[in-house]
Amino acid sequence: MINRRQWLCGMGIMASAAAQPGSAFAASKKETHKTASHSLSLAEFSPKSMLQVPETHVARARFPVIDFHTHITRSAKSTRGVSLASDRVYLGTPQELLAVMDSKNVRAMVNLTGGYDKGLGDVISKYDHAFEDRFYAFTEPCYERFLETGYPQLQAEAIERAHRQGARGLKILKTLGLYLRENITSGKLVKIDDPRFDPMWDACGQLNMPVAIHVSDPVAFFTPTDRFNERYEELTNHPDWSFYGGDFPSNAELLEARNRVFARHPKTHFVVLHVGNFAENLANVAENLDRFPNMSVDIAARIGELGRQPRTARKFFEKYQDRILFGTDATPHGDQYPQQVFNDKLYEVYYRFLETDDEYFDYAPAEVPPQGRWRIYGVNLPETILRKVYFENAAHQLNVVV
Ligand SMILES: [Zn+2]
Repeated sequence: MINRRQWLCGMGIMASAAAQPGSAFAASKKETHKTASHSLSLAEFSPKSMLQVPETHVARARFPVIDFHTHITRSAKSTRGVSLASDRVYLGTPQELLAVMDSKNVRAMVNLTGGYDKGLGDVISKYDHAFEDRFYAFTEPCYERFLETGYPQLQAEAIERAHRQGARGLKILKTLGLYLRENITSGKLVKIDDPRFDPMWDACGQLNMPVAIHVSDPVAFFTPTDRFNERYEELTNHPDWSFYGGDFPSNAELLEARNRVFARHPKTHFVVLHVGNFAENLANVAENLDRFPNMSVDIAARIGELGRQPRTARKFFEKYQDRILFGTDATPHGDQYPQQVFNDKLYEVYYRFLETDDEYFDYAPAEVPPQGRWRIYGVNLPETILRKVYFENAAHQLNVVV
């Protein structure tokens, strides 16, 4: 295995127009520093912007916030992308979370990965019941029972049980469509619209529990990790995030299977996470929102995408202001993911994006932009839209009184 630096060095970029073809890849690091010419590896490129424009520091959200997309707990056992245990790992204590929440005006966090059965019960008593209206846990499917006879009914009953325990919704990870296979971790991939999940979707509709569904991933993850890939460094840091090749379906096939589920279960509400994982094409997301009244989106981990198209994004917020939920994908101590590590800075950059018209700023606190080398622009939303996105739309989904 080559390490990241060697790999990036192999992708040397031309630093000077005068550089000779052929010499670019040969220049050593020492030479590069001495002469500041010839070539520079992408990993070493860290330009400091000379642009001087106003910078607004938004320490608190203008209105109270429900963060609809966080991961306070996760499964204690997972194999090849499939979570296989009720037991939870706790990523942050309620006290450390509440300290940041109070200072950033976050009224509540939705803990999407709450699990099921005993693990879920523990999470609900430790967070949701101990600090009322500050934490809302979602349940997840128990895939380790996938091979049992009667799984479809078992899974629907598990949703009812989770609802009685206090779960507010169901979370589906990208596991469905990209990891879960006929024999759980081997065999053919199970499709998102597999009829074995129909009773589960229906149970959610009957119990008025929203389904927070992560389908597919950024479209660049389905293309080769090469010099044309705009998320090259991210994929190099996390090679297992690439779904190019193998027996993986395309991004379009995954979204089509997802849409068939929406069409078949009109009474179930789906919150499509990460702007439907197609913020690169808001026209497509808009088309699907028009087609499916039972669909909303969250913006978690996608301000990098929205903020590089601020005019299109602003129109999108205006048109779909009742169907966009605030979310961050916050993960306490998730230091390997700068765009989602739970801390003050994470919230400040989301607020700056939503509330100001600041230009050309980092979408994540990191030396190199972690989801692609670009910067973003604020969308400066009016107060009526801010209220909806920060709080009201999520409150409606969670049946919380505003
Ligand atoms: Zn997430």
